[in-house]
Amino acid sequence: MADKSIEEKDYQKAVALLGREPRSPFIIKTRCGNGNPQTLVADPIFFEDNLWKPFPSFIWLVCPRLKALVADLEQQGFVKYFSQKLINDENFRNEYLIGQKEIADYRLRLAEEKFAKPLPQHIYDILKNTSIAGSHNVCGVKCLHAHLAHYLAFGNNPIGKEIIEKIGNCDKESNCDSENAGGKK
Ligand SMILES: [Zn+2]
Repeated sequence: MADKSIEEKDYQKAVALLGREPRSPFIIKTRCGNGNPQTLVADPIFFEDNLWKPFPSFIWLVCPRLKALVADLEQQGFVKYFSQKLINDENFRNEYLIGQKEIADYRLRLAEEKFAKPLPQHIYDILKNTSIAGSHNVCGVKCLHAHLAHYLAFGNNPIGKEIIEKIGNCDKESNCDSENAGGKK
């Protein structure tokens, strides 16, 4: 898009949904049915206090409706449900692990492009070996928002897929505008 005012408006909307100025640049990766930003993909490393730092959970879920519904699922015990499913369901686990490896490799490539020389070892280790939720225990589910954001932005995350089947993706009828959006559609 050549129209800078639209880009600026989009940027401001995304920052408002995120609730803070991000530490690293980002792109709007997916949108809700009403056109608002739904997921943002940030640089997986950032510079702070004269140091490069890793940012493994580099995909943000910013739709207020999805954030509220996923928080409900977490309250209902779905972090534990998916942790158990990863232990008990071999196909689910294998699909999950393939997706985690793929996103970790992608994340590492992005960081290497940004850094333009060999990454410091501790950054390499974190970007190469943690889950999308930033956990060294890759099967530690930790945060459902991260898994849903991964699925919406890149696919290939069976936890995110199952979540969206439960709560429904955003469409034109969804109320995506406020934190009270909860409800269904
Ligand atoms: Zn939405």
